[in-house]
Amino acid sequence: METLDRSYFESLDQVDPLAEFREQFDLPAGHIYLNGNSLGVLPKAAKEKAREVVEEQWGQGLIRSWNTYDWIHIPRRVGDKIAGLIGAEPGEVIVADSTSVNLFKLAAAAVKLNAGRSKILSEPGNFPTDLYILQGLESFMDGKVRLVTESRDCIMDAIDEETAVVVLTHVHYKSGAMFDMAAITARAHEKGALIIWDLSHSTGAVPVALNQVGADFAVGCGYKYLNGGPGAPGFLFAAKRHLAHLEQPLSGWFGHANPFAMRDDYEPAQGIERTLCGTTSVVGASLLEVGIDIMAAADMNLIREKSLRMGQLFMELIELRCGQFGFGIVSSKDPAVRGSQVSLTHEQGFAIMQALIARNIIGDFRAPNILRFGFTPLYVRYVDLWDCVDALVDIMTHDLWNKAEFKKLTAVT
Ligand SMILES: *Cc1c(COP(=O)(O)O)cnc(C)c1O
Repeated sequence: METLDRSYFESLDQVDPLAEFREQFDLPAGHIYLNGNSLGVLPKAAKEKAREVVEEQWGQGLIRSWNTYDWIHIPRRVGDKIAGLIGAEPGEVIVADSTSVNLFKLAAAAVKLNAGRSKILSEPGNFPTDLYILQGLESFMDGKVRLVTESRDCIMDAIDEETAVVVLTHVHYKSGAMFDMAAITARAHEKGALIIWDLSHSTGAVPVALNQVGADFAVGCGYKYLNGGPGAPGFLFAAKRHLAHLEQPLSGWFGHANPFAMRDDYEPAQGIERTLCGTTSVVGASLLEVGIDIMAAADMNLIREKSLRMGQLFMELIELRCGQFGFGIVSSKDPAVRGSQVSLTHEQGFAIMQALIARNIIGDFRAPNILRFGFTPLYVRYVDLWDCVDALVDIMTHDLWNKAEFKKLTAVT
């Protein structure tokens, strides 16, 4: 076996087929960024695009730009590009709203499509907004449906004839654990249930083949692995076979068959546009498109290969060099069930992460004790992993985390 030293990691970077993508990102000098699973890095081209959209399209074009720059079709145009990243067809994906709002629209639509069934199934410990949105829907349904959560290991058996819709996050935000999308989708259909996949930690991170597995619906996030910028719009997917019957509760004017006919009565658009509600952020969607264009130019198989290798090497380094410091490794060593992050536990996790961040090595912390390290193969180098663990060894050996300044809880962790 290779010796795990810094030069070994440098040698991996030298033959990395994705290495040249790093140039396209405006990563501040001296930073190691292992948090692209929470907020992706600024693409250099997004700066010019922001200037163009604000100064030219908005500033000079004013209202005319709805037509001259085709603002009106941005949700669909950018959605079609995302479709290529998640194994969907053009016309099945649209950019709109936030992931949370998109989940509400689709969960309500699914419950209506499967009327008469009483159960929405999810897992405890799913991303909070997913559970909160489903709780909100449950409360609006006046007892007609109830949210039931079952642990990951029992989820297959919990899908039954009473299940209207299964709502799961493909890659878990805390542990990085990945569900078998094909198997669970097949089970849902066997029982007559619909399924919604939350792809927030999957899109741009792991291969996703929605139509190949026969998924019904999906939602996802623009500001994580797609590098769309803080608060970038989210997206949603609805399989073509459902579009004609899909009714969603936020029936705003952008979902109308003809928004500018300005009629009093709602009539849903024929296609995926019926899932729109109001005006999509043009600035947000334009910047998201820049991130997606970069992602679309990269080979997802290479991304996955590098991401898994990074995860494996990171865990090996932690075991090799941090064994005596009390870290636990939460993420699975089995690549079949691991997304693009590695999570560690430590009782001083928050302070340790703050000490790393003070050195411009940026991961994040999730209560109560999880340190997350996300791997984004387009701009993270192998040598960054070595340097990160090297800093961790220093921080732990000399108790450098044990300072008041590293223990003050911040609003966003
Ligand atoms: C990040 C994330 C979201 C984000 O939802 P917003 O509406 O954009 O705030 C939703 N679901 C999951 C699983 C996430 O990881």
